Amino acid sequence: MLQVDSITKRFGGVVANSEVSFTVEEGQIVGLIGPNGAGKSTMFNMISSVFPPTTGTITFQGTRIEKLPAYQVAPLGISRTFQNLQVFKNMTVIENVMVGQHMQTKTNLFGMASLLLGITRKERKVYDQAMSYLAFFGLQDIFDQKASSLSLGKLRLLEFARAFATEPKLLLLDEIAAGLNHKETQEMSALINKVRDTGVTVLVVEHDMDLVMSICDKLVVLDQGVKIAEGTPKEIQENEAVITAYLGA
Ligand code: ADP
Ligand code: MG
Repeated sequence: MLQVDSITKRFGGVVANSEVSFTVEEGQIVGLIGPNGAGKSTMFNMISSVFPPTTGTITFQGTRIEKLPAYQVAPLGISRTFQNLQVFKNMTVIENVMVGQHMQTKTNLFGMASLLLGITRKERKVYDQAMSYLAFFGLQDIFDQKASSLSLGKLRLLEFARAFATEPKLLLLDEIAAGLNHKETQEMSALINKVRDTGVTVLVVEHDMDLVMSICDKLVVLDQGVKIAEGTPKEIQENEAVITAYLGA
C-alpha cells in the first residue's frame, strides 16, 4: 500500500531522516518507533505532504505522492492525527467531526456554514453520519460539548475520530496515546484494532511499548534519522541495536 524509498530530509544542517526505506502492507498496523528526535513526525509530515522530502520517493497505491500538495494527497485516502492536537477548540465535538467529513466530501464552505447554523435535510445525513463516527469512538454523549472543555483523553479520541471521519485508506496516528493513563491507553489500543478491522491500514508513532508491541504487525525503528531495525514486535524486542539505542534506555 505504502512504499517509502530512500527518504532523506534535511532542515538546514539537521538531517531528520537519512535514506529511510520501509513498506506498509494493506490491512497492517505498522509502528514507527524510536527516541525523541529520531525523525518519526518528520516522516509522517512527508507521507501526509506537509512538506516534501529532500530526496527519495513515497508511493501510495501506485501513485508517487512525495511532491504532491497535501490537498491532493488527502483525497487519495491518507489521513493523520497530530502530536500537538489540531482540534478546533471553539467548535463542539460533532462540529469537529463534521469538519473531517467536509474534507472528505468537499462540501463547499457555504454548505459547511449552513450545516453549522441550521440543518437542511441533505445535511441531516452528514449529521447522522457524524453521530455514528462519534458512537464508534464512544463520544456520542458529549457531541454538543465545546472541544475546549474536554479532558486530554477525550481530545485524543476526538482527534482520532476527526481523522477517521475522512474515511481514509491509510491512517497515521502520531502519539495518539501520549499522556493517557493506563485504562485510557488500553481503550485506545482496542480502538486502533477496531479501526483496522473496518479495513483501514494504520501507521502509528507511539512511545508506549506495551501498546506498540501488542497491536503492531511490524515495527520500523528510527534512531537519529536512520532506520536501525525492522521486524515483528518479537524480533525488535530481541534486537541488540534497538535495545542499545532505545528499549534499554
Ligand atoms: P520525533 O518525532 O521522532 O521526535 P522529529 O521528526 O520531530 O522527531 O524531529 C527530528 C529532527 O528534525 C529533530 O532534530 C527536529 O528538531 C528536526 N525538525 C523536525 N521538524 C523540523 C522543522 N520543521 N524545521 C527544522 N527542524 C525540524
Ligand atoms: Mg514526534
